[in-house]
Amino acid sequence: AAEMFYDDDADLSLIQGRKVAVIGYGSQGHAHALNLRDSGVDVRVGLAEGSRSRAKAEAEGLRVLTVAEAVKEADVVVILTPDQVQRTVYAEEIQPNLNEGTALVFGHGFNIRFGYITPEPGSDVLMVAPKGPGHLVRREYTDGRGVPVIVAVEQDPSGQAWDLAKSYAKAIGGLRAGGIRTTFTEETETDLFGEQAVLCGGASQLVMYGFETLTEAGYQPEVAYFECLHELKLIVDLMIEGGIAKQRWSISDTAEFGDYVSGPRVISPEVKDNMKAVLADIQDGTFAKRFIDDQDAGAPEFTRLREQGAQHPIEKTGKQLRSLMSWIKDGASDSDYVEGS
Ligand code: NDP
Ligand code: MG
Ligand code: MG
Repeated sequence: AAEMFYDDDADLSLIQGRKVAVIGYGSQGHAHALNLRDSGVDVRVGLAEGSRSRAKAEAEGLRVLTVAEAVKEADVVVILTPDQVQRTVYAEEIQPNLNEGTALVFGHGFNIRFGYITPEPGSDVLMVAPKGPGHLVRREYTDGRGVPVIVAVEQDPSGQAWDLAKSYAKAIGGLRAGGIRTTFTEETETDLFGEQAVLCGGASQLVMYGFETLTEAGYQPEVAYFECLHELKLIVDLMIEGGIAKQRWSISDTAEFGDYVSGPRVISPEVKDNMKAVLADIQDGTFAKRFIDDQDAGAPEFTRLREQGAQHPIEKTGKQLRSLMSWIKDGASDSDYVEGS
């Protein structure tokens, strides 16, 4: 069974005794910085000169420095810039300014797992990866709850890395919900697989194929949208509450019978073979290389795919229908910020 830890298993005073630099103030960065501060930790934020995030962090009363200055002051450096820029920020601004024995904290294992960052042997290297989007990491904390975290240690020259990792996880509120011990390899590979095969890639494609099948058969796009996209949340909420079993209990017998006979016809066994191929590309670094090489070239493939995705007819129908449902907020607000996590 997985090794789990909760608030009582961690000593908050360890991280309270350190000087922490949070590099990046985006989805995860703002949540970590603010939760740490509210847990009594000495935090500063490191951002690039002219960063768009600076005003937001300063409005919260946080001290904002350049990355180099923040790292020089710190004995714990938390790397929460986008994955594709971490290796450059590390090489140019973090590594040259590290104090002896500074610990590095990651929110995802990508750069360590695929070798884009090789830390100094003297650095403790830890990961506290929230299993939820950054905006929830902050909102749950302020509501007295927490988003569960998975925690790993890659290097432990001090012998204290696990205690520090648990202390950090407690300070961001993660141990209120629970922490699970993992490795950088397990976290990175399962996170990429989950977002590609099921949560983001799989779910998006399933919804689009459903919408296309109905509209191509002549049904109204508005009806197809409600059926194939809007209702998905209601079904998933039931799964979260009580598993697939509760979802099947709540739906009609007609729907439940259709689930059994048509589910495996749509998601046929070769889909599982495709998932295995996706996992293999993650494990051998093919996916990581494709992503990073594209980013390094100015992201032509990423930009093209993003534009193509935005053109799908479901987006036009959805925009129209959502504007009529006042309780659904569109745009990049806290409540609808979504990531595969
Ligand atoms: P974001 O894209 O939200 O981070 C953007 C932040 O990084 C901004 O403050 C941006 O500043 C800053 N930044 C960008 N480039 C630089 C740079 N060169 N130097 C300094 N700061 C820079 O990232 P996420 O929060 O999505 O991801 C951070 C990490 O957390 C990743 O490792 C990710 O995999 C992981 N993670 C993310 C989750 C999520 O919910 N998003 C969930 C779990 C893990 P500016 O405003 O100036 O552009
Ligand atoms: Mg994830
Ligand atoms: Mg992810």
